[in-house]
Amino acid sequence: MTTQTGTKHRTEYETVIGLEVHLQLKTRSKMFCSCDREYFNAEPNTHVCPVCLGMPGMLPVINKEAVTDTLLAGLALGCDIPAYAKFDRKNYPYPDLMKGYQISQYDQPFCLNGVLEIEVDGARRVVHLERIHLEEDTARLLHRDNGVETYSLLDVNRAGSPLMELVTKPDMHSAAEAGAFLRTLRQVMRYLRIADADMEKGGMRCDANVSLRPVGQAELGSKVEVKNMNSFRSVQRAIEFEIERQARMLDAGERIMQETRGYVDATGETVSQRSKEEASDYRYFPEPDLPPLHIAPETIEALRARLPELPAARLARFASQYGLPADEARILTESRADGDAFEEALRVAGAEHARAVAHWFTGDVARHLNALGGEAELGDTKVTARHIGQLVRLVAANAITAATAKDVLDIAFETGDLPEAIVDARGLRQVTDAGAIDEVAQRAIAANPKAVEDYRGGKQSAIGFLVGQVMREMKGRADANTAAETLRRHLDGGAG
Ligand code: ADP
Ligand code: ZN
Ligand code: MG
Repeated sequence: MTTQTGTKHRTEYETVIGLEVHLQLKTRSKMFCSCDREYFNAEPNTHVCPVCLGMPGMLPVINKEAVTDTLLAGLALGCDIPAYAKFDRKNYPYPDLMKGYQISQYDQPFCLNGVLEIEVDGARRVVHLERIHLEEDTARLLHRDNGVETYSLLDVNRAGSPLMELVTKPDMHSAAEAGAFLRTLRQVMRYLRIADADMEKGGMRCDANVSLRPVGQAELGSKVEVKNMNSFRSVQRAIEFEIERQARMLDAGERIMQETRGYVDATGETVSQRSKEEASDYRYFPEPDLPPLHIAPETIEALRARLPELPAARLARFASQYGLPADEARILTESRADGDAFEEALRVAGAEHARAVAHWFTGDVARHLNALGGEAELGDTKVTARHIGQLVRLVAANAITAATAKDVLDIAFETGDLPEAIVDARGLRQVTDAGAIDEVAQRAIAANPKAVEDYRGGKQSAIGFLVGQVMREMKGRADANTAAETLRRHLDGGAG
């Protein structure tokens, strides 16, 4: 067997991967108290109250928005929504856990089963989900070293924030599939507008369970759980490292011990953190301070009606309805806002110009956004969908040339003015007057005897130079084809 890193192994192994993904929900308040959940950039310990500080005797109240978000996620991912759900206490002592227990869900989560379709190397695959449940986040420990001693600081702002945990079945078989799963999941969460799912900022955290088994063996191998990855890239690297490490051990006749390992970004390796024998017993029991929840069928139907068109459906629709190539449809549906902007521009330009609108979005508009840096979106600029719609309409009506349109877009990004206003204010409308073009063409011929001689001598490319002269004098407002035809007529006719 040759694994992904190119190493040969004695036996052929199948890789099995299951992911546990935590997602921070973008609710207004925290999970069980009314503290403002948006603590990013806030001073430490400013978004706290007796409930999220874990004071004894304080009573939690369930955040309805967090429950709704979790159900929306479940519906978007085709999960079953059981009629009853409850919260449980997960007990473990740790300095970042204010109460000594975390309110989570044990045997009656909000969502069961479900699927997420991913695409890897052009092939589509369905990844099955186990469950989605809701819990509260912990506080954050900041480890410091002042050169004399090491110490830890505690920031409680994050404690009690709503955290949605999604667990997949052991249903992925390569690092690339795990990466595709996480990217697709992030996209769906963003479409739902319930989570930013940003791994670098801790908004999405992933533990990867990895095992190998000889090909053909029915029973799963012992799994190793890898933690501590904070980018898609590190998840993939950690999995690739584990596959190699486990294959080497199995080749050597060693047994894989079920354990938890931590990924070390600097080396790209995983190191043992604790074995199964030391695994905690969480002593789960139903949270006595919270009522079990009944999820009525009407609630589920009302939420289902709120689901937006999801990325996969929108991608297929854009391709079929507008006849867009798959790669353009993919770019246009990458974010929900992009797709919305595309269709809004179409309403201005006219649906018959879908290809042209798509072309502007994926070409010049994307170029402007890239220049603004990685994650810039149209919404961050002065240009709106209406600008693009107008621009395409002007080009389609031959009111401006393609060259002028690019300049108009540049000006729009700078000033925010609408294309029609820019064109009128600056007199950029295309010159369609044949007489005017003819006059300039004749002047260009008279002023450039060398090019004329080259052209007549058989150098066809000389015409390009002359067209350039005409365009320059007319400030790009002439149609290049008309200019070339006019020039040829004069030159081939022997006049000039
Ligand atoms: P645990 O009891 O250790 O928490 P679970 O059965 O709850 O294990 O599974 C946790 C995660 O590990 C899930 O994502 C699941 O798909 C995955 N998993 C379970 N068994 C394996 C295995 N043998 N290989 C890879 N992943 C596995
Ligand atoms: Zn609070
Ligand atoms: Mg488990």
